[in-house]
Amino acid sequence: MPHPTFPNLTVLDHPLIQHKISILRDRRTSTRDFKQLVNEIAMLMAFEVTKDLPVVPVDVETPLEQTRGYQVAGKKLVLVPILRAGLGMVEGIAQLIPSARVGHIGIYREHDTLTPVEYYFKIPAGGDARDFFVLDPMLATGGSAVDAVSALKKAGAQRIRFLCLVASPEGVGKLGAAHPDVPVYAAALDRALNDKGYILPGLGDAGDRLFGTR
Ligand code: URA
Repeated sequence: MPHPTFPNLTVLDHPLIQHKISILRDRRTSTRDFKQLVNEIAMLMAFEVTKDLPVVPVDVETPLEQTRGYQVAGKKLVLVPILRAGLGMVEGIAQLIPSARVGHIGIYREHDTLTPVEYYFKIPAGGDARDFFVLDPMLATGGSAVDAVSALKKAGAQRIRFLCLVASPEGVGKLGAAHPDVPVYAAALDRALNDKGYILPGLGDAGDRLFGTR
């Protein structure tokens, strides 16, 4: 169900997602467990996020008889992790949707100004007819998210969803204002940002915790 304050936001508060997010937040959680949990939460989120994908009927022959089945319609969807922390969400979703293509967007925030800078962009051809799932564990200031979605639209993408684990009110608001057509799915909506652009209570630096670079 859409969030009462943010019409672009759906918080996926399934008990398993909430349970795993709480372990993820714990500062004592190891890099190995953190990586595993990010994949598991992303997979659980993908199950919800894909529930309205259109299907087409197909004929299937079982060992016993002919029957009618369904398959997801259209071109293969595209997972687009924002480097580097978004990479942590790819594997879990790809286990659920093995046919998914993977694009990449490299954006970093200027240390002092927090302005996003794009340094890498590669997505599969035929973008105008595909569904894109932009992945970033943290929707913080929203700068990188807005920039990533703008870059995808410039490349022809028309159907874009944004998946994050933890969102800030500032980030959801900024993304919604710039791209009201892009639904945001989060496992948690947190309280605020601090003056360094970190989400509170959050889970710290997702990239560092995923890749052990703390
Ligand atoms: N990026 C992170 O990894 N963590 C935050 O809290 C904000 C941005």
